[in-house]
Amino acid sequence: MRLSRSFGKTLREAPADAEMVSHQLLIRANFIRPLGAGIYTFMPFGYRVLRKLWRILAEEMDAIGGQEMWMPNLHPASIWQATGRWDTMDVLMKVKAEGGREYALSATHEEVVTDLVLREIESYRDLPRMIYHISKKFRDEPRARGGLLRLREFIMKDAYSLDSSEEALDAFYPHMVQAYFNIFERCGVPVVAINADVGAMGGKTSHEFVVPHEHGEDMFITCTNCDYAANVEAAEFIREGEKPAELAELARIATPDCKTIADVAGYVGVPTSQTIKAVFYWWTPTSAESKRAIMRGDRFIFVLVRGDLDVNEVKLNNALGGGDLRPATEEEIRVAGATPGYASPIGLNVAGNLMEAGVYVLADTSLGAGGNFVVGANDEGYHYKDANYPRDFAVSQMADVAQADTGHKCPVCGGRIEARRAIEAGHCFKLGTRYSATLNATYLDENGQPQLVFMGSYGIGLDRLMAIIVELYHDEDGIVWPDSVAPYQVYLMHIGKGDEVIETADKVYRELQAAGFEVLYDDRDASAGVKFKDADLIGIPWRVAVGARGLAEGGVEVKRRNQRERQFVPVAELAGYLRRHSQ
Ligand SMILES: [Zn+2]
Repeated sequence: MRLSRSFGKTLREAPADAEMVSHQLLIRANFIRPLGAGIYTFMPFGYRVLRKLWRILAEEMDAIGGQEMWMPNLHPASIWQATGRWDTMDVLMKVKAEGGREYALSATHEEVVTDLVLREIESYRDLPRMIYHISKKFRDEPRARGGLLRLREFIMKDAYSLDSSEEALDAFYPHMVQAYFNIFERCGVPVVAINADVGAMGGKTSHEFVVPHEHGEDMFITCTNCDYAANVEAAEFIREGEKPAELAELARIATPDCKTIADVAGYVGVPTSQTIKAVFYWWTPTSAESKRAIMRGDRFIFVLVRGDLDVNEVKLNNALGGGDLRPATEEEIRVAGATPGYASPIGLNVAGNLMEAGVYVLADTSLGAGGNFVVGANDEGYHYKDANYPRDFAVSQMADVAQADTGHKCPVCGGRIEARRAIEAGHCFKLGTRYSATLNATYLDENGQPQLVFMGSYGIGLDRLMAIIVELYHDEDGIVWPDSVAPYQVYLMHIGKGDEVIETADKVYRELQAAGFEVLYDDRDASAGVKFKDADLIGIPWRVAVGARGLAEGGVEVKRRNQRERQFVPVAELAGYLRRHSQ
């Protein structure tokens, strides 16, 4: 491609709202252009990178038996209503057409695939299968930000595995995980595979592939001693602290002006780990199971956690069986019989389970590690000291709902864990029968009996992957594309205007392309400084400069984007040289 005819221009300045380096550089280097918040056009250079990623993803999916397909982005509302996600998926974009017909824009494709399974999978002979597609997805992301990292319209590789049993799915799953490692390695992206919360996708096991990054929006936990790694929403940790040998007698004490846990601990003279924090939520179950369990609809949830820990709301929601959580209002807290700021489980009418009347008290397991706690007295200005569970109060449910953090104890080896920020690069879910059961997608087994199809779903965002690559591969002058995904392999330029220089550059352009290289030819009538700056900004692996000085010495100047050294290589040897030294 001749740069003089290329669409769009590089920019000297990044847009003011671009915080992430990938966002700044992809815009400056003319790879993407914003249309609206979270909506981007891929310019010709960006589209070439996208096609490279596409190819890597497709090759690795094909290698484990996948078949590429093409699925619709406009979905009749009925398929989303059938799985219940029409109402429960907040980010689903809905379209109302003439005559009241309703559609969803594809947020994901489990519904479409399950519909296909209903039509195409008849017997055990039709299994296993693995299909995938690379397509647009739409999500009504309230906080679109970070360039290609959080989008409203994006591009995903989505694969779906179909198996006859849980064992068959378990046997296939590691192949997909390995394919993911291959994909990320080919793109130059070092990932950590972690156990993740299954969230809105449903199902059982899931792995998240993350790239540690200081500006990542995810938190994950790794052990400093063993290979334990987990998403913070799924991370377990050992609650340190022991029950005191002697339980002191419960006593009510005045604690004036103690509004926070730190105030109370300081006033009484105990560490925060010897206090109990109360947090209140209003919970609305959304799944059929959790609705059945609760019977009476929404419910007030009184959560207890040791004072040195915090509640993780995803863990809490999972412990309750899923649904919507919001902080309870002061009014709701008072109706339950508790006093905001001084709330206590002591003296409350605690429900035995979700079916019973009374206050539902959910305690983190940390209440079992420690004792002689300081806890509120449901009276303004008063606390209890030396409160002990279960001697002094009851709970409805004990569960792991505390947030894992740096310094906590590893659940596997007892070493110290570390919380780090990361960018999510991909996800593998064992969906099991989550969708096939809802839509009754069955096959006939060898005995002619209907059995549910076991599904898995596996996603990688291509635009996000492009941003991650730029986050990892750049310097102060611009992007430094790995060879495998670079938009072109060679940035060719001529320096100066002499006929011999231009004729030689034209000849190199033709010959490199004939030799199979993808060449971006900076044939503009511009200064060497401008051309070198753009070459660095766009970040193509090889820079080849044709100038009078080099030609006098019998060659052209060759430089790798990620190295300082320059070489003079005779024109006749150029293609061979580049091939030998490419990765
Ligand atoms: Zn460990």
